[in-house]
Amino acid sequence: MKIRDILAKRERGISLEFFPPRNAGGKEGFMKVVNELRRYDPLFVSVTCSPGNLAHERTVDAITWMRQETDLTVMPHPTCIGATRESIDMVLRKYIKNGIDNILALRGDPPENVPDFHSETGEFAYAKDLVAFAGTYDAFSIGVAAYPEGHPQSPNLEKDIEYTKMKVDAGADFAIAQMFFDNRYFYEYLERARKAGITIPILPGILTVTDCRKIEEFSDFCSATIPPALKEKMYPVPDKPEEMTKINLEYALKQCEDLRANGVTYLHFYTMNKSGIVSRIIDALGMGK
Ligand code: FAD
Repeated sequence: MKIRDILAKRERGISLEFFPPRNAGGKEGFMKVVNELRRYDPLFVSVTCSPGNLAHERTVDAITWMRQETDLTVMPHPTCIGATRESIDMVLRKYIKNGIDNILALRGDPPENVPDFHSETGEFAYAKDLVAFAGTYDAFSIGVAAYPEGHPQSPNLEKDIEYTKMKVDAGADFAIAQMFFDNRYFYEYLERARKAGITIPILPGILTVTDCRKIEEFSDFCSATIPPALKEKMYPVPDKPEEMTKINLEYALKQCEDLRANGVTYLHFYTMNKSGIVSRIIDALGMGK
């Protein structure tokens, strides 16, 4: 089912993001987590994709397992950086052949090992180009990424919104926000977006990781600010997993409660392929079935 139709029908709910296992041997563990979380009746589940053909195969494999073994609505995250029209055409046709009718259309990150790489000169310079191209197939509901604190390469927040609006104008049906730890960034983002005429649903992205080193790693990578209050709690206990889990569970739960109290009805969880903390948050929020 197309995600735009699901969001039009369901006023509230959660969505779940996974990454594909490295190889087919990881299927059992992957599907175990998916099966533990599917009882929450997610709006949809999505699977990340690293650039490159092999990585893409892994995403399609994971999506295919879920399609064959569950009734979940699925969405891969194709990236277009460095791609050609021909290669993207092959990817999109493969999706259609596999019954996939939703995509999160992304540009992706420039390859680190190619110093002179210029994405602007490629056939797909930005995600908006993939949105427009995928739209011509008339087969997909298309989501895009949004950045409450601004994308790290955006010159400023105003330009960031302007570029996001271009993705919407190109045909995006919904957006998923990069992780953030301070809800004010999300509320301010929503305000800027609505002022700019962006009316599509924007789902907040919640990171559910309990290891503080990982939280720092992800935050650095995405330029997401860790509030001092969270740092103060996390830093003294990096080697005490139980305390760390408690702190981060409490933090993420409070964050979700505040979002709900402020009228946010959809929550997108970056599960990191773990079911425990996500289940506990959804149970506590009473958002599961
Ligand atoms: P774009 O929207 O194209 O933006 C890229 C940069 O270009 C931004 O700085 C933007 O401001 C700028 N820009 C956009 N349009 C213009 C324009 N017309 N003129 C000038 N500048 C412009 N990455 C992966 O590799 N795999 C994944 O599975 C994945 N999943 C993600 C899921 C979510 C929910 C999010 C939020 C991000 C995800 N990413 C993933 C990361 C994403 O690929 C990177 O953040 C990437 O750097 C930008 O992708 P984008 O689609 O947002 O690009």
